[in-house]
Amino acid sequence: MNALRPIHIVGGGLAGSEAAWQLARRGVPVVLHEMRPERSTAAHKTGQFAELVCSNSFRSDDADASAIGLLHAEMRRLGSLVMRAADTHKLPAGGALAVDRDGFAAAVTAALEAEPLIDIRREEISSPPAEWDSVIVATGPLTSPALADSIRERTGEDALAFFDAIAPIVHRDSIDFAIAWFQSRYDKAGPGGTGADYINCPLTRPQYDAFVDALLAGEKVAFREFEAATPYFDGCLPIEVMAERGRETLRHGPMKPFGLTDPRRPSPKPYAVVQLRQDNKLGSLFNMVGFQTKLKHGEQTRIFRTIPGLANAEFARLGGLHRNTFLNSPKLLDGTLRLKAEPRLRFAGQITGCEGYVESAAIGLLAGRFAAAERQSEAPALPPPTTAHGALLGHITGGHIETIDKGPRSFQPMNINFGLFPHLGGTKRDARKHALCARALADLDSWIGGAVPHAAE
Ligand SMILES: Cc1cc2nc3c(=O)[nH]c(=O)nc-3n(C[C@H](O)[C@H](O)[C@H](O)COP(=O)(O)OP(=O)(O)OC[C@H]3O[C@@H](n4cnc5c(N)ncnc54)[C@H](O)[C@@H]3O)c2cc1C
Repeated sequence: MNALRPIHIVGGGLAGSEAAWQLARRGVPVVLHEMRPERSTAAHKTGQFAELVCSNSFRSDDADASAIGLLHAEMRRLGSLVMRAADTHKLPAGGALAVDRDGFAAAVTAALEAEPLIDIRREEISSPPAEWDSVIVATGPLTSPALADSIRERTGEDALAFFDAIAPIVHRDSIDFAIAWFQSRYDKAGPGGTGADYINCPLTRPQYDAFVDALLAGEKVAFREFEAATPYFDGCLPIEVMAERGRETLRHGPMKPFGLTDPRRPSPKPYAVVQLRQDNKLGSLFNMVGFQTKLKHGEQTRIFRTIPGLANAEFARLGGLHRNTFLNSPKLLDGTLRLKAEPRLRFAGQITGCEGYVESAAIGLLAGRFAAAERQSEAPALPPPTTAHGALLGHITGGHIETIDKGPRSFQPMNINFGLFPHLGGTKRDARKHALCARALADLDSWIGGAVPHAAE
């Protein structure tokens, strides 16, 4: 008989399954509540745990040069069930890790069902009962409406979003500063700025006209059936929809040139300007202001690289607009993913503001470790910020910076990428990636070995 009280996990997707496994491996009992197959979401098709709702790819498996490959490697070292099942059911896919989705989900399900410390209950939870003293909410982008309402009541109207509106994010070191310059509109410093907070990319009239034509002609992603009622929010219209409303609309919206002058070329004035705003505290990533879009990813890369200054832009994230339930985590969650206002509730997976199967599982892994430590009266150990786990956790719990001026809230979901890691010297991009990966794995090994920072209680 285990003397510890169980941790309740709501949602048996990528994050909830991994969190349950991590807890059980540490000897902590779990009650795992999953509403499928009794009640499904608009995207799931089965009753299996860790169902992949779309692509069967875990993306690059290169732990020496890609951030997602590094995350795979770290998860393997941390005893991830999701990675074990993926490796067992992998399919030929070049440098990517693709899996047989049925075999993968069946393996995760079988492992959880066989684990004596995990009690599985097939039921929807509309609000975690008050007597559950430690809960992990891992209900994903399609959290059931009743639970979403209950979370919203706890967090406030603006704290839980139901759609993302993602503008592309560019690595600062790929921007050409022979063309672009730093300046805030009319040099206004605002509450948190310096007067030179934005990166500005100027367009002449012919360049602007060609850009608008490209947007109008560019291939767009269709909404999925269940997203058909996607509302367009004020201030979050896709740029191509703005362009459809009139050729000058963008010039009076996100591409306004007013109040911006390149001191090196004071005239002629640009006809339009694309602005990029700092996105993370490290200052390595900048988002394209107002550039949320439904253009296909290949089209975004092609069209946005025609913007002067962005010819060689490397994108940490491309734009999108999806049905997606996620919290304003940097504001609401503490360093170990607990709701500050109600610390018995911890969040994991995509609802925290990460993006993708692997990232969601990784945050589930951390939530499981943190909850286990807490249950065993130990201080949860935070992963070093130099690791992929630490970088992702940093994005969610504090690495992102809020807008420096008035506008819609700016925290949006993100995949793991090297822009989230603390800077490492070296100019050659490939060499820097190798060095970041090597540093991450060395630091992860020290963490696993016990040389670790602990979370403040
Ligand atoms: C349409 C769509 C396509 C996507 N395509 C991709 C892709 O190609 N590649 C990629 O990497 N990512 C993709 N994603 C994102 C991916 O689904 C998520 O990153 C990942 O599944 C999130 O893991 P999670 O555990 O947070 O949520 P999920 O895996 O969605 O798991 C959440 C679980 O919670 C359950 N649940 C919800 N509410 C309740 C409740 N009240 N009580 C009990 N159980 C509940 C659900 O049934 C589900 O099993 C896509 C998402 C969507 C919606």
